[in-house]
Amino acid sequence: MEAEAAARPEEEVCGLLSGHGNVADTLLPVENALHSPHAFDMEPAGLLDAMRNIRESGGELVAIYHSHPFGPAYPSRTDVASNQYPEVAHVLIGREGAEWRVRAFRLDDGVGELTLKTVAG
Ligand SMILES: [Zn+2]
Repeated sequence: MEAEAAARPEEEVCGLLSGHGNVADTLLPVENALHSPHAFDMEPAGLLDAMRNIRESGGELVAIYHSHPFGPAYPSRTDVASNQYPEVAHVLIGREGAEWRVRAFRLDDGVGELTLKTVAG
């Protein structure tokens, strides 16, 4: 995810993470239709493809991710206001100085941080 964000530092990258339960094992990038460094909107056809991919692989939607190339790994006011998926985790890849940082949140009633663990496999 950091690599994907770093490959496009000029715009927010976005996509889905699929897996089972709370464990995500597949990254499904979706084009940012806005190509903006400060906002994202998943390109509808790409989003449908990603959703179909998850269904056909027998997985579940675990999280939605996007990057903040010019901001912290924390949901913006817009992210909270425009969130259409309160039931899934939101992973933010933010830039802090030269480093990319990844944090996960739940955005249902306010912002709650989730614990992220990397599982080797
Ligand atoms: Zn955002």
